[in-house]
Amino acid sequence: MGIEDEKTVMNDTIRQKKLILDTSAILSRRVSLMQGNVATTPSVLDEIRLGKIARYTGFSSDMMDILAPGKESLCAARKAAEETGDLHELSSTDLDVIALCLELNGILVTDDYAMQNVASRLGIEFMGADLKPIDRDIRWQYRCTGCGKTFQQHVEICPVCGHQTKRAVRSYKKRQ
Ligand SMILES: [Zn+2]
Repeated sequence: MGIEDEKTVMNDTIRQKKLILDTSAILSRRVSLMQGNVATTPSVLDEIRLGKIARYTGFSSDMMDILAPGKESLCAARKAAEETGDLHELSSTDLDVIALCLELNGILVTDDYAMQNVASRLGIEFMGADLKPIDRDIRWQYRCTGCGKTFQQHVEICPVCGHQTKRAVRSYKKRQ
C-alpha cells in the first residue's frame, strides 16, 4: 500500500472510531494524519513531557483528547494481560492506554507487540503507528518523583530517597 492509500484508509477509519495513541504512536508524528478524533491518557503525556522530547516532535496535547480510563476497564485490561502472559511486559501507562481504548471502543495505535496482543484478546482493533514496518525504538528512562534522579535501567523505587519512579522517554531513534 502506498502512502496515499494509507491516508485514505486512515480517513475512513477516523469517521467511525476514535484512535487511541500510545507514546510510540505520538512520537511517530502520524498524529497530523489522524487529526480530529484522537485520544490518549494523562500517563502517556507524562512519559513524553518527563522526557522533554515534546519540543522536537512538535507535539501538542491540544491535538487530542486526554482521558483517564475508569477502574473497571483497567481491571479488564490487566486481567486480559495476565491471560495472554503479557502483563510483565506492560507498564501501568500501557495498561491505561489499553483500558481507555476498551472504554471508548476505539482503535489502538501502537507499535508494541505486547499491547497489540492484549488488545486482540479484548477484541480491540489495532494498527501500527508507522507507515513502514517498525524501524524505531523508544529508549526509556525512569525518573524519581521525589528527588528527580534518573535511571537508565528499570527501577521501581528510588534507592536514594525511596519514592516511586515514573517511566519517561529517553530517546526515540531509528533502529540501526
Ligand atoms: Zn529519589
